[in-house]
Amino acid sequence: MRIYLDHNATTPVAPDVAAAVAAALVDEYGNPSSVHHFGQRAKAALDTAREAVADLVGAQPAEIVFTSGGTESDNLAIRGAAGALWSAGKRHLVASAIEHDAVLATLKALGRRGWEITLAAVDRDGRLAPDAVAASLRPETALVSIMHANNEIGVIQPVAEIARLAHERGVLVHTDAVQSVGRIPVDVRTLGVDLLSLSAHKFHGPKGVGALFVRRGTRLEATTTGGRQERNRRAGTENVPGLVGLGVAAALAQSTLATEGPRLAALRDRLEAGVLAAVPDTVVNGAVDSRLPNTTNISFDGVEAEALLIALDLEGIAVSTGSACSSGTLEPSHVLRAMGLPTHRTQNALRFSLGAGTEASQIDRVLDVLPGLVARLRRLAGTGARAPR
Ligand code: PLP
Repeated sequence: MRIYLDHNATTPVAPDVAAAVAAALVDEYGNPSSVHHFGQRAKAALDTAREAVADLVGAQPAEIVFTSGGTESDNLAIRGAAGALWSAGKRHLVASAIEHDAVLATLKALGRRGWEITLAAVDRDGRLAPDAVAASLRPETALVSIMHANNEIGVIQPVAEIARLAHERGVLVHTDAVQSVGRIPVDVRTLGVDLLSLSAHKFHGPKGVGALFVRRGTRLEATTTGGRQERNRRAGTENVPGLVGLGVAAALAQSTLATEGPRLAALRDRLEAGVLAAVPDTVVNGAVDSRLPNTTNISFDGVEAEALLIALDLEGIAVSTGSACSSGTLEPSHVLRAMGLPTHRTQNALRFSLGAGTEASQIDRVLDVLPGLVARLRRLAGTGARAPR
């Protein structure tokens, strides 16, 4: 039995999604910008997908810009807002220190072009204080970008409160909701954001497709130029089959959210409680009372996370040491570091992220094998059961 507990890296494509993508690949080959029958069919397929995505996040269909995924959505939001506001004298951008690299590397690139960047600190539980974010805003701040839920620890940020404070100061608000959309209820009006990124492959859709919500009237400069697709916000012939898949995945997520959330939270809690009880010197990273229902991040003292990941993989269990993009680099997690955790705890943390295919029997299997693996690795490392904290 192979067990996949890495749904924050990516999720398996749902069978209905795969069937819809395959059918669209064959049937909807028209260019959605063409005026003839074939083009209009493809356009209608995109319209259906756009409505499903808009419904999932409480937006109007005209506010949804299709992209190639979360990374592009983050880039378009940040570079697009920065580009639109530079001529108004804006020079400053704010984000949290625990953003995904799609945001952090984009800000770094803009920093080399004259933008000033402030990264707001999180507390030891990985939470931002809205007042501290607000205090970093200046008259020349263009945008604040705060992720809705963190990919490594699952902690959910007080985005609505931050958005309210930022808007009082005339600052645009973007949220990277790549990890939350499709997993917990997300509503752009409740959050009060101007821009929101989402990605299909995090909720059983295909890879390489996503969307950016752009609130009506928001100033945004296109970062990809060419044709007039996506209301001039993103040039290039749309990936029709992929976006059809995104639409089906969005509809599926909406219909299963209410039941899947509690089901996954119960399984995650069973896993977490089981690990903490059976393996000494373990600790959960991140605020436990404000988390995605599918995620837990646990430090195992006296163990190299990579070694435990490989040992689990040999038992058929797939987990992660943090974000998929930085795995293999052996660099300690920038998220856990920003939380102020001691170095050893940033290097011995494993992320378990559950999803639609996760069942109780799989959790029990993990709980069967994990304590023995940790004990063996501790013996090999000579760290024993009681490692320094
Ligand atoms: N933002 C967050 C929080 C993510 O977790 C990811 C993916 O891991 C991304 C952005 C990038 O999304 P994509 O893989 O669709 O480019």
